[in-house]
Amino acid sequence: MSRTFDAIIVGCGFGGVYNLYKLKQLGLSVRAFDKAPEVGGTWYWNQYPGATTDTTSEIYRYREDKELLKTYPWSTRYLSQKENLEYLQHFIEIHDLRQHIQLSAELKSASFDAATSTWTVTFNSTGETYKTTYLILATGHLHTPHKPTIKGIEKFAGPVYHTGEWPEHRDLKGKKVGVIGTGSSGAQLMVNIADDVSHLVSFQRSSQHVVPHNNGPISAEEREWVNSNWDEIWETVDNHPIAQNLVYKSTPTMSVSAEERERIWEEIWNGTNGVAFMYGPFGDILTSEEANRELCKFFEKKIAQYISDPDKRKKLTPTELYVKRPVTMSGYYETFAKKHVDIVNYQFTPLIEANEKGLLTTEKQWDLDVIIFATGYEAMDGSLKVVNPTGTHGTLNETWAKGSTSYLGLSEVGFPNMFFSIGPQSPISNIPPVIEVQANFIAGLIAKAEAKKQENGDGKTVLIEADEQAKDGWLKKCLEIEDASLIKTVKSFITGDFVKGSNVPVHSWLGGFHTYQRFIKDVSENDYVGFKLTN
Ligand code: NAP
Repeated sequence: MSRTFDAIIVGCGFGGVYNLYKLKQLGLSVRAFDKAPEVGGTWYWNQYPGATTDTTSEIYRYREDKELLKTYPWSTRYLSQKENLEYLQHFIEIHDLRQHIQLSAELKSASFDAATSTWTVTFNSTGETYKTTYLILATGHLHTPHKPTIKGIEKFAGPVYHTGEWPEHRDLKGKKVGVIGTGSSGAQLMVNIADDVSHLVSFQRSSQHVVPHNNGPISAEEREWVNSNWDEIWETVDNHPIAQNLVYKSTPTMSVSAEERERIWEEIWNGTNGVAFMYGPFGDILTSEEANRELCKFFEKKIAQYISDPDKRKKLTPTELYVKRPVTMSGYYETFAKKHVDIVNYQFTPLIEANEKGLLTTEKQWDLDVIIFATGYEAMDGSLKVVNPTGTHGTLNETWAKGSTSYLGLSEVGFPNMFFSIGPQSPISNIPPVIEVQANFIAGLIAKAEAKKQENGDGKTVLIEADEQAKDGWLKKCLEIEDASLIKTVKSFITGDFVKGSNVPVHSWLGGFHTYQRFIKDVSENDYVGFKLTN
């Protein structure tokens, strides 16, 4: 006997929890599952030392949560992993959602049966089978770890960790630690463990521009100010390309004097974060190579201020433009100025292999007690490929054989009544606002299908499916935007570099959160154009 729900949600991170909250509001029977023993998703799995958001605390939460904000204060400018997890748990308790959540339940399969218009979902851990009308895959775009193949890694005598698989405390005290990767996770980890370990070696395929995030305590007065200016704050977020509480201007970088640029950038360095360099007072950092190079020169000067050793400075100075997801972490260069912290830059001394004692480069053997991968995720579609649901014309992996596609980042042709939270071609942005926009849209579509079912009066399920033409139009738009951006000049998870076997035509919506939100609004106001509702 299998149990039946109106909707099943896979994943209980920020995405799954918000979708659960929305669908319960529609009065549906819903169950949300997660393979972890606790909710939190990314914020459960990433308990490495120093895991913190780099979006300011007041907007790293659900916008609809205005009242909760008053009863659930935060202590610092950026939320720690612990505070994020506690916030999510608090949201669940306040809205009485726990009763609809099943943990330690790893999905085994999901398949659609056209004859009955239902999804069948099975779980490994319990062997249970469930039937559902709607299936929401909120499996997370930062979930499936990217683990590069290193020859001989299995011979290494010590433990090998990944920052994205770190659900508990690990003792690194007094150890010789090698960290591979220097994105946000690597930067946060290294700054936070440096004083604990005896030797830290950072293995960098490419060095990154790392900008201080200027974290610090938030006073009761500042929180009060947020409470009384909540709507204005979100208006700013709505107009920002990556949903930040920052004013975004279109001013061209080279239109102001060199002194003025220096003054503005100095102010950001000392008071804001990396995002403000990319999407702040100047609007052409990602479209004008001249502007971007000028900014890189500013960063070079900054690195030189912190790092006096010429060899270390050379290894830490990026050769790429400033186009990757900004890494923003105070204390990064100060950490590398320390004597017991070394850098291996593959550009000068490539990695050869791992062995029992550590890692061997073309320069020397680095003896290590622990190796940590901070190498990111198969972002956007990695976790969906693991789920690999079967739709009306085959599996998702078959559909995506030539690259992951979607309509609006939330649905795929051939998978009726199935939706993604942050699927491929979703905006690169502060994530909770994107989750809310997509979940509100999905709930609107489902409400429309449920109303149509009532109207039809035959009790038959109404199927929602994206239209092929609408999907093609959407992908074309995504490609046009990517083509105009400097982002595509450098490989990263944003352009789909890390997804195994992927030749994705375009991986992310680079048009910005602000335009995505308007686009989604237009679609819903135009009777959900691009979706067919049939039964
Ligand atoms: P990431 O940004 O994708 O960075 C991965 C790092 O691993 C890069 O330095 C990359 O080098 C390196 N790498 C990848 N493959 C490699 C290989 N084969 N050999 C050597 N190095 C390799 O991953 P992440 O830092 O985990 O971040 C993932 C996402 O989570 C990002 O959006 C990030 O901003 C976000 N995040 C946010 C926060 C926060 O809110 N504060 C915290 C952590 C993470 P290359 O540069 O050469 O590709």
